[in-house]
Amino acid sequence: MVCLKCGRDAAGEQVFCDSCLSIMEESPVKPGTPVLLPSPKKQTAAKKAPHRKRALSPEEQVIHLRKALRRMYLCVGVLIVVLGMATALLVYEILQKDVPAIGQNYTIDTTMNTE
Ligand SMILES: [Zn+2]
Repeated sequence: MVCLKCGRDAAGEQVFCDSCLSIMEESPVKPGTPVLLPSPKKQTAAKKAPHRKRALSPEEQVIHLRKALRRMYLCVGVLIVVLGMATALLVYEILQKDVPAIGQNYTIDTTMNTE
């Protein structure tokens, strides 16, 4: 059988090899204690280099950048249209109301005589 800890061949029906057992005897654990064993599959997966994106050729980079630029132009255009409509609506609202000229936006109250 293969040792659960190190992966070397363990004698007979032993779960751990003799060297691992001698190491584990130095730090005994109560029965029923959950123990995390290293997984040989996970170790090999972790050693592999992470999958990287293939480097793009200059032509592909130009295509990607043109797409990004087109998207940006579209966003800016939509933003300009929305801001223009909002400004027009605001100007229209201001012109509809009888807004006094600047400096004339006060009223004189003649009822408040101090006499
Ligand atoms: Zn072992």
